Amino acid sequence: MKTFKLGMLIVIAIGMVRCSNDVENDIQQESTITQQDVSSEILSKLQQMGFDMDKTSVIPSKGGYIVDGDIFITQETLERGDFQKQAFISIVDCNRAGNIRIQNALGNNAAGRGFQRGIDLWNRVNGTTLRLIPVNNNPDILVRLANPGEIGGWGLGEFPTNGIEGGLIILNLNEPSIDGDPVTAREWGNILTHEIGHNIGFLHAEQGFFGTQVPGTPINDRNSIMTSGSNPSVVFNANNVSRNDRRAVRRMYSNRNNRLCGR
Ligand SMILES: [Zn+2]
Repeated sequence: MKTFKLGMLIVIAIGMVRCSNDVENDIQQESTITQQDVSSEILSKLQQMGFDMDKTSVIPSKGGYIVDGDIFITQETLERGDFQKQAFISIVDCNRAGNIRIQNALGNNAAGRGFQRGIDLWNRVNGTTLRLIPVNNNPDILVRLANPGEIGGWGLGEFPTNGIEGGLIILNLNEPSIDGDPVTAREWGNILTHEIGHNIGFLHAEQGFFGTQVPGTPINDRNSIMTSGSNPSVVFNANNVSRNDRRAVRRMYSNRNNRLCGR
């Protein structure tokens, strides 16, 4: 489970891509794992971030390290272990994702009025088979209000397990908006879209290598609806899910041959 709440970090991550179409260069990279001049702390940090250190080259470079051939990671970023990208931890079965029953048990309030927007922002993404169907009973995902003191922050979404979407989303009406006013229906819609993202597998966009990056998405996306609560204005002010969020969900749930669901 992941809680969407205020934090304090503003983090800068820099991704740098170096193309290596040169065959000789590729062979060299595979046969030479260079880690000798790198401290054990740095290697251990990279391992924590999910790199397989038996296969990963690490080359000290000005201000940071070139990791695994074409990923530049600054010293600062490495110390914070932070990135911004579309990544998932587990995923919903293709067939289930096409018909996810979701129930609005929020009641007559701003959050309840934001419910439709919350599901629409995902359902409107074209080229994907993901569909969230509003229902009045037997939901796959129940969306309800927090009990007093149950969660901090605005909301909570549950990760999928064994191909089944997370079954619960909680929204906390007691949490004021980022400007101190009550959260509006539109803002609740955006928050719900974010939480649904967790229930269908998304990590926070800044969550390093803990999860698996969705292929075809960049390592930086400062507009992702999956930006964490440490930078809440991105979610609160979003007009839509980001272009790369759309790319990611198409790659996860679609009829394409290279879809990630069902693998
Ligand atoms: Zn979140």
